[in-house]
Amino acid sequence: MTRSHKVDISGLLGGGRQILVVDDQVSIEEFEGIAFPKPAAVHLEMRYVDRLLHIEGTIDVRAEGHCDSCLEDVVREVHVDIDERFDPHAGGDGDPFGENNVFTGDRLDVADLAQQLVLSAMPMGVRCGDGCKGLCGTCGTNLNASTCSCVGE
Ligand SMILES: [Zn+2]
Ligand SMILES: [Zn+2]
Repeated sequence: MTRSHKVDISGLLGGGRQILVVDDQVSIEEFEGIAFPKPAAVHLEMRYVDRLLHIEGTIDVRAEGHCDSCLEDVVREVHVDIDERFDPHAGGDGDPFGENNVFTGDRLDVADLAQQLVLSAMPMGVRCGDGCKGLCGTCGTNLNASTCSCVGE
């Protein structure tokens, strides 16, 4: 999928604009078995203050995966609150986004930014619920739905 979600922030960096608001729909790439079938709704409000780019906003996207424990389908609505500051002039040291391609010159890649923020907001493992009983280690029965004769042994 081609990515064409680059936003020109030169006006903001040059002081010509006070605020830049971006509303975009961007695709999030699948990772570690978690898929994002619909584009994420991204809302960004960017300000340039003291040579730092302040980005506030939200990302909402539906994540689909499988419970780590019982392997059932899990659907999660992921909401990310963005409150980031970073230096668009930095070479990368100390910048969590530095080694990535969020910035190319005066352009901010909304898709890359959203991808990284969604990934960092996702839990390490997906579970269908806190009370998931998982699968029987012996026969593989889903213990949320039924019991098996191995239970208790
Ligand atoms: Zn489960
Ligand atoms: Zn069993």
